[in-house]
Amino acid sequence: MTRYLVTAALPYANGPIHIGHLAGCYLPADIFVRFMRLKKYDVCFICGSDEHGVPITIKAEELKKTPQEVVDHYHKVMKDSFESFGIVFDNFSGTSRKIHHKNAQQFFLKLYKNGYLSKRKEKQYYCETCKRFLPDRYVEGICPHCGAEGARGDQCDACGKPIDDLSLIEPKCKICHSTPIVKETEHFYLDLDKFQDRLKDYIDSRTWWKDNVKEFSLGWIKEGLKPRAITRDLDWGVKVPIDGFEQKVLYVWFDAPIGYISSTMEYFKEKGKEEEWERWWKDPDTKIVHFLGKDNIVFHSVIWPSILMGVDEGYNLPYDIPADEYLNIEGKKLSTSKNWAIWLDDYLKKFQPDILRYVLSSILPENKDTDFSWTEFQNRNNGELADIYGNFINRTVQFILKYNEGKIKIKNDLKKDDQEFLQNIYDKVEKIGNYIQEYQIRKATYEFMDIARESNKYFASKEPWVLAKKDKNYLDTVLYVCMKAVVVLSCVGDPFIPFTSKKVRDFLKLNSFTWDDIKFLQPPEDISDKKLDILFTKIDDKTIEEEKNKLGNLPKTLIGSNKNLDEKKAESVTINDFKKIQLVVARVIQAEKVEKSDKLLKLKIDLKDEQREIVAGVALFYKPEDLVGKKIIVVKNLEPATIRGIKSYGMLLAASDKDKKRVRILFADDQTEEGDTVG
Ligand SMILES: [Zn+2]
Ligand SMILES: [Zn+2]
Repeated sequence: MTRYLVTAALPYANGPIHIGHLAGCYLPADIFVRFMRLKKYDVCFICGSDEHGVPITIKAEELKKTPQEVVDHYHKVMKDSFESFGIVFDNFSGTSRKIHHKNAQQFFLKLYKNGYLSKRKEKQYYCETCKRFLPDRYVEGICPHCGAEGARGDQCDACGKPIDDLSLIEPKCKICHSTPIVKETEHFYLDLDKFQDRLKDYIDSRTWWKDNVKEFSLGWIKEGLKPRAITRDLDWGVKVPIDGFEQKVLYVWFDAPIGYISSTMEYFKEKGKEEEWERWWKDPDTKIVHFLGKDNIVFHSVIWPSILMGVDEGYNLPYDIPADEYLNIEGKKLSTSKNWAIWLDDYLKKFQPDILRYVLSSILPENKDTDFSWTEFQNRNNGELADIYGNFINRTVQFILKYNEGKIKIKNDLKKDDQEFLQNIYDKVEKIGNYIQEYQIRKATYEFMDIARESNKYFASKEPWVLAKKDKNYLDTVLYVCMKAVVVLSCVGDPFIPFTSKKVRDFLKLNSFTWDDIKFLQPPEDISDKKLDILFTKIDDKTIEEEKNKLGNLPKTLIGSNKNLDEKKAESVTINDFKKIQLVVARVIQAEKVEKSDKLLKLKIDLKDEQREIVAGVALFYKPEDLVGKKIIVVKNLEPATIRGIKSYGMLLAASDKDKKRVRILFADDQTEEGDTVG
């Protein structure tokens, strides 16, 4: 029996999840997995957060957090979002975990041993103050194309042009603002050219791939593959396991796909079946399906198969890569920096997850970019989920409770048109299954709603309220047929609207079922003891207007999520913990502004036994002359820190409001003396 290992692209752990992510791969992957499970295939659904790379270290520095704190925070935010939307992976791991570091290093070493890696020297910016090589995003300067300031080492946001190696004018280290030098560094490259022919044969053999994926991949190969750097100078990531390269890490695009395997290993290890992962990656009966967005195609169709071929350990190559295109919002490209996005945690404050699942399933960018609009969201909820799907189920149930005391008779004497109606529904169930297996989720979603549409028509055409007076026997038949349709909807809806489907199945007392069972399932004979709430309510114009107005307007969700990260948990400390901090009184003997900074003052202070220099962020609130002669309280045993290139040997105590708009230094009074301890 074929088993399926399904992965969804590892989301990058530097922000929460938005609907572009959902539409790009997580929702189609989840629909596919839910369906395949109902078809009784053996499925393993793998994901995890992508936790390395420069954007994470930059974010950590901005937030004054460690990279680990940043990724741990977003790992949880993302996992919660997925679960709230019914997307539950068998394992949601993270690439900063030990199991992955070890696994990725082994991949590197095997490729090295098998002769697929080469070393090359290149020139790169190096900051002598920070004592580190600066990745592109750590360098800022003037754009050589348009002259704009604030261009990054790799790109200018003002003119959008890429910036070639080292061509930035007046480059500055983003961290300390000093001018970097250019220094030689050595890196490992993956020799993609050595896989050229094998890759072409491999992709040619995948006749079932989507056109967009296949053409894009072959186009890439046709241009001729070149070696590609897989290491970089950074201290956050998987360390390069080679002597002399301890200061370097694996490039994030190299280690991330290996994360699928690490996550599978972790999953089976936790289940106590440590060896089991191998079957899911190497047994020829396993089909590996990678769901991802189009920006990720070549990494999975060209580079990832090269890595798997190169280690030469019998790995299956990806069976399919059903990549989607992009989802736009209200006619514009989604942009997180401009907050032209809809964040899942924000969405959930007002709406149930199934509405968005359904609407996105109906408009997935399967073959070309598509557009999400709030008006369409409202129309599909009101006109389809509420008026067709919800209406049919709720009215059938209400009718049976009201006119038939909640009783349903299992009937065998169906008339021809009743049978035809049911057969038409069963055909649609079959069709939906086929569409999902071909990743044509939009068509599948349409057929799903069409079952409800046909059912509504059937109900209306039979006029059961007339039958209730004239033909009780046939009324029983019609109600039975309608309930059969309710059963079908509650099962077939599981991949699309799992929460609502489960609610209806609970009402029907249907526990488990398989896709092939659906047409044989019977409704309960009595529903008088249970209640079914209205499944979907209409959304008014005002609510939709509010959502539209949020677009591009309130970056609050993002900041909100960062804020949670900023608010450290109020951990209690013991008195001994507190005593570790040496607080003493010091007298300010000199004060001056720090050059090119409007916030910082450099203070020379006297602690009685010694004099020190500290840097304090109080220049907006105090003039240097205000402070000379004053007695302040400082932390004496703080590790020295470098601020704007100046060493600070201590920290003064000050009170401030939340936004640091009002900062007041805590002065010690006249009776105190330098060197007095505080505590
Ligand atoms: Zn420019
Ligand atoms: Zn620097």
